[in-house]
Amino acid sequence: MIRKQVHALSLFLFCLTASAQLPDNGVATCQHTRLNYFGSLAKSSRSARIQYPGDATIDVTYYKLDLNITYTPNYLRGAATIRLTSAGDNLNRFFLDLANEMKADSVKTGTQKLAFSQENNQLSITPTQPLGKGQALTVTVYYQGKPGATGLGSFTFGTHGSQNQPAIWSLSEPYGARDWFPCKDSPADKADSSDVWITAPKQFVSVSNGRLERVIDNADSTRTYRWRNRYPIANYLISVAMSNYALYEQTFRSSPTDSMPVTHYLYPEALTENVRKTLDQTTAMLAVFTNYFGPYPFLKEKYGHAQFGWGGGMEHQTISSMGAFNTDLIAHELAHQWFGNKITCKTWEHIWLNEGFASYAEVLYRESVGGTPALRSYMNSYMLLARRARGTLFVQDLANVNNIFDSNRTYYKGATVLHMLRGIVGDQKFREILQKYAASEFAYKAATTEDFAAIASQVYGKPLDYFFKQWIYGENYPTYRVKWSSGALAGQANQYRVNLRLEQTTGTANPAFFTMPVPVLVRTSVGDTLITVVNTSADQTFELTVKGQPTEIQIDPNGWILKQVEVTEVITALNDPVPATQLTVLPNPTRDQLTAQIDVAGAFTGRLVLTNLAGQEVVTLSERPFTSGRHTVTWPVLHLPVGRYNLTLTTGDRRLTKAVLIAK
Ligand SMILES: [Zn+2]
Repeated sequence: MIRKQVHALSLFLFCLTASAQLPDNGVATCQHTRLNYFGSLAKSSRSARIQYPGDATIDVTYYKLDLNITYTPNYLRGAATIRLTSAGDNLNRFFLDLANEMKADSVKTGTQKLAFSQENNQLSITPTQPLGKGQALTVTVYYQGKPGATGLGSFTFGTHGSQNQPAIWSLSEPYGARDWFPCKDSPADKADSSDVWITAPKQFVSVSNGRLERVIDNADSTRTYRWRNRYPIANYLISVAMSNYALYEQTFRSSPTDSMPVTHYLYPEALTENVRKTLDQTTAMLAVFTNYFGPYPFLKEKYGHAQFGWGGGMEHQTISSMGAFNTDLIAHELAHQWFGNKITCKTWEHIWLNEGFASYAEVLYRESVGGTPALRSYMNSYMLLARRARGTLFVQDLANVNNIFDSNRTYYKGATVLHMLRGIVGDQKFREILQKYAASEFAYKAATTEDFAAIASQVYGKPLDYFFKQWIYGENYPTYRVKWSSGALAGQANQYRVNLRLEQTTGTANPAFFTMPVPVLVRTSVGDTLITVVNTSADQTFELTVKGQPTEIQIDPNGWILKQVEVTEVITALNDPVPATQLTVLPNPTRDQLTAQIDVAGAFTGRLVLTNLAGQEVVTLSERPFTSGRHTVTWPVLHLPVGRYNLTLTTGDRRLTKAVLIAK
């Protein structure tokens, strides 16, 4: 799922652009706007709901929802047939989750009525005989009411277009399925299959999961759509989407002899030539993701989109609900069919297994089209947001839906963790990990971080527990302070020793430092050497030997690690002392990142800021004591508007300014 009318990234870029015109701290102002923007989506949240396993004494194996839905009035009459087995012995009572607003009229098994009671959003049912362990029971719950719209808007009667055409849709994730059908409301308990039959006035095209089996015109001017899904499905992925849809169809050829329908249900006014072109990417994405993750998980049925009125997208199984159509959103929801739907996070605490993966898949698709520059550019933007993440990726507070779906943490930091994993294991092993995971024992079931970590370690051939422990259960990221010096090795022609001291702070005790393999680029008079050091403490010194006299050190030059870096060259007696403070901007003009090199003769406390030509601060790059030596501060500027800026180092009333040109 992704909730953004404007893609959060675009919104963020807009923020940066806008900040140039804002009177004070533009970025902070924009963050505030953004919080309000997302906050407004969540106002309908019911009071806190916590992690909830459903009734642990039953396993649900099948849902059939036979729904009769009217728009005038907004009403749902349902018959939900649920097959379940008892998880324990002597089960004489069990419950299904069903919101109080949906009133159960009767519960039957076959033709026999069962005793039931309904309170606190639970429907308690008493079987005629206690159930033995593993014993199956099929019950049909007849119920009716106007479904509520909790969480992100679990069931909505809306409109679209200038004529206010009716539209009806569900969005159950995470806790909203019970608002419109009785269920065991837990992502861990998947049904083996499901059917959704929707009867509504003839103006509605009614869309749901799986294959469309039959459309029946009824005598009372209603029409019934029978949708049939024969793959395991989590209850929150069962959906309805209904409107006067126009259908745009494509075919995905999964092999020379096999194909699958790709069906797009759009509001007629939305199906423009441009949108068709955007939608046409879906089959290419299916090919890219098949190549990366393994076969599309629901090949015997379909993939498709159904437009809805919510600002974002939701990966309903085989039929993503979409509030807009753009490349990243299409890629995101499609990737969820593997990560989210084929393998579902077992509890919402592990939601990064859904959202981090789908967000990284957006980048993988962009990389497949635009190559390494696209990968770097996207990850650069993701990491800017990931650095703002607060708390652990393992979600601590499940009562707050906004907290579960926190974009900086669950989405961007989640994706960045996969990028870092790829940086450690390499491209080939990374693909292998994703494919093994997608085809593992957790396929068509649910998984936890530990399940994924075990597969990653197994494929890599070395334990990766340390990696997941610090990045999933720890907070923040490392800020590296690097000091280095070099000297010629006696008796060895043009060989130099580099003394590299890596200190890191994390701003938290959890973890106090990040253990990471850190790539180090040593630039010398004869060329570049890339060496990976294994950093296992908060303050560690490495001795490296290189050919040629070292001139520069770059930490993680290809951007695999979520981090900040400050590099200081300690000038030793081998070199001439730097006579005075000098400020150098490299490169200039620049496109994607700006490096300020500050050569300091005597210690002072200074502040390095980037301002626009109106004198407004765009960003503070550094504010701290500067000791004597060379300091390097690097900052990504890819998303700043093209133009002239000033980089100013201030200390007291002294200023040192260099003009900077950002070009594209
Ligand atoms: Zn998502």
